[in-house]
Amino acid sequence: MSGIRKMNFWISPNLRQIRGLMEPQPGISFENTEIAFGYKSNSELRKSYYLFRLIGNPGFVSFGKFATNLAIKLHIPIGWAIKGNIFKQFCGGENIPECARATKILDQFHIGTILDYSVEGKESETDFDHTRDETLQTLKTAKGNPHIPFSVFKVTGLARFELLEKVNAREKLTDAEAAEWQRVRGRVDDICALAHETGTPLFIDAEDSWIQDAIDHLTDEMMEKYNREKAIVYNTVQMYRHDRLEFVKASHRKALEKGFFLGLKIVRGAYMEKERARAQAMNYPDPIQPDKASCDKDFDAAVDYCVDHFDRISICAGTHNENSSMRLAKMMDDRKIARNDKRIYFAQLFGMSDHISFNLANAGYNVAKYVPYGPIKEVVPYLIRRAQENTSVKGQTGRELSLILKEMKRRGK
Ligand SMILES: Cc1cc2nc3c(=O)[nH]c(=O)nc-3n(C[C@H](O)[C@H](O)[C@H](O)COP(=O)(O)OP(=O)(O)OC[C@H]3O[C@@H](n4cnc5c(N)ncnc54)[C@H](O)[C@@H]3O)c2cc1C
Repeated sequence: MSGIRKMNFWISPNLRQIRGLMEPQPGISFENTEIAFGYKSNSELRKSYYLFRLIGNPGFVSFGKFATNLAIKLHIPIGWAIKGNIFKQFCGGENIPECARATKILDQFHIGTILDYSVEGKESETDFDHTRDETLQTLKTAKGNPHIPFSVFKVTGLARFELLEKVNAREKLTDAEAAEWQRVRGRVDDICALAHETGTPLFIDAEDSWIQDAIDHLTDEMMEKYNREKAIVYNTVQMYRHDRLEFVKASHRKALEKGFFLGLKIVRGAYMEKERARAQAMNYPDPIQPDKASCDKDFDAAVDYCVDHFDRISICAGTHNENSSMRLAKMMDDRKIARNDKRIYFAQLFGMSDHISFNLANAGYNVAKYVPYGPIKEVVPYLIRRAQENTSVKGQTGRELSLILKEMKRRGK
């Protein structure tokens, strides 16, 4: 029996028609839930509905966080409790082979997979080497596989946070720290070299502002080394920072001067509360935009700037924002940029905003999803963040729930 059949794969007759018999449609709407959830059976859709209802409750999420962390501390096994629900919703599996199921589903709908080893908070050299090896494995898996268009890693997966802080602050390193920093640079280089060799573009995620200069410098070095023919290494810019639009332009100037191609993943930024709290506590100017509107404005301006210069800059818009996604899609059409031009990608996280991913992909744009994976116990911090992001307080759940409900209603369930 084929993998697909084993999965009890379900495609509605209309969707088969859309995908199978016709070329991608020129029009695009994020309202089309038939396309958005075409990969979910009725029972899977119902499961997602109950899950989003549950995590929509901030009290439940706070209790869940407390209980899960306690269980991990006491070595109480928790895998059985979360593997079939929240883990399945937001993660591809515990290891790369287990992610094949998610990759196959996404691929059926022309969506790429970005294997994201989501183990966090490690601090030993052995752990850092392991994360390097795991990331190399994602690149080996992606080699020659058009369904895995990018790989990704976080520098904090390869380096001690305090060391990054010190490098960022340009503090003098001890001899031992200098040797440690060389090992970090070696790990980053190993990964970028393999990405270059296999031709698989690679995202380097953006993190806290007080280590980001160190990450930017490393990434610039790698881009200069490996982006000679095209963008292989991509930096990430967080447009919730008020200095990032200028940073995008400066990065472009540097790419022109030094003769390399610039790769940029453009996001809004994931650590706003933490950034604001630290700036206040340590009494330095808040690096974050004054309000959401300013963040949105700079996000759009960064996208515009990159598309204006896409002979030199390749981008990925990493966003769940419907306006930003639609705006970029329309801009491509207005400028007669082919929807499948590899220099422009859209990306969302697995288990979220399927109405954006699946509708964009159905209309022929390049779309990929981060598919996080790792041992259940190790990806709990990632899952907690997703749950928190999806509480009613943050507003995302309302949207996911109403879309799921709309689709259940359409199917008469
Ligand atoms: C594929 C992908 C990759 C990602 N990679 C990274 C990464 O490497 N690093 C990273 O930090 N994040 C990353 N993110 C997360 C991203 O930065 C956002 O946190 C998340 O996507 C929500 O923003 P949005 O554009 O989807 O949607 P929206 O819901 O439109 O935006 C919410 C975001 O707006 C910003 N915001 C909200 N209120 C304010 C305010 N008052 N003032 C200023 N800004 C405000 C915040 O950044 C908030 O997260 C990634 C997301 C995706 C989908």
